[in-house]
Amino acid sequence: QSIQILDDSDPQALATVLDSYDTFLFDCDGVLWRGSALLPGSTRTLALLRAQGKRLFFVTNNSSKSRAEYVAKFTKLNIPVDISEIVPSSWAAAEYVRIQYPEVKKAFVIGSQGLVDELNLVGVTSLCGADQSYATRCFATESDFLSAEIDKDVTAVLCGWDLTFNFAKLSLASLYLQRKPTAAFIATNKDAFDKLADRNIPGNGCAVAALEQSVGREAVNVGKPSRWLINYLLRTYNLNPRRTLVIGDRLDTDIQLGIAGGCDTVLVGTGCTTTEDALLEQEARKVGMPTYVLSHVGAFSLSAIPS
Ligand code: PLP
Ligand code: CA
Repeated sequence: QSIQILDDSDPQALATVLDSYDTFLFDCDGVLWRGSALLPGSTRTLALLRAQGKRLFFVTNNSSKSRAEYVAKFTKLNIPVDISEIVPSSWAAAEYVRIQYPEVKKAFVIGSQGLVDELNLVGVTSLCGADQSYATRCFATESDFLSAEIDKDVTAVLCGWDLTFNFAKLSLASLYLQRKPTAAFIATNKDAFDKLADRNIPGNGCAVAALEQSVGREAVNVGKPSRWLINYLLRTYNLNPRRTLVIGDRLDTDIQLGIAGGCDTVLVGTGCTTTEDALLEQEARKVGMPTYVLSHVGAFSLSAIPS
């Protein structure tokens, strides 16, 4: 089955697509907004879906913010939202620890305050985390590393987006994994890169790969496209995958997440994977194809206009 191209100027076809689903899982960056700027028509589409009584979730691989911080961002952008609809990878990681590793009470964390906050809410304290000087205090020189003490209470290592990721943090996280081979090893996401305006910046996948390389062990990815994440959402919110549509800008994360859960998917052209790319279909055949492609998520709001 090949990719169905949705035409912006065909409100009837767009309305038919929306009618086919009850629940919509939206990627955030590259679909609703880019950085802090809303993409055209995205709030109109969300308002239309809410008026139709649809269930909405916002699933982002960005682990830098907590759910509460995302509520503030949505509110600032004038998008009504309930905290229970927000699924950042910081929260996914905390939920994963709570469910799969209930015995974990302390974790060595590479990441930002948002991840530390979500872990706190499930009763897990963070070592390193948002304490910017912790790792460099422990590891200013090589001999510091040899005498660095291990906190016996740490039974998990988490790696999330960290703008201040450095060799000292990498070395300490690696040391915990070496000394505690049974420790949970969790990545909030493994994005190879993320888009920042017209440039790509290294994503959390780069830090995770460095850590994995250092210990020869793979981290569990709890962000998109993790099967654990989509199954967790489908089960927790009692969603029917056949009536759930996943909308994203990325073939390797968003679209594969939907496919892993048995959901239909829309790839929009406002982010990472270009829908015009002549190679899209060829690439998609290797990893899994979107059900639909659409220029931008705002196009769905045109489906409300009577023809
Ligand atoms: N991680 C970081 C640090 C980012 O800046 C971004 C996008 O800006 C992402 C992940 C991807 O987020 P999303 O899944 O909403 O596209
Ligand atoms: Ca995205």
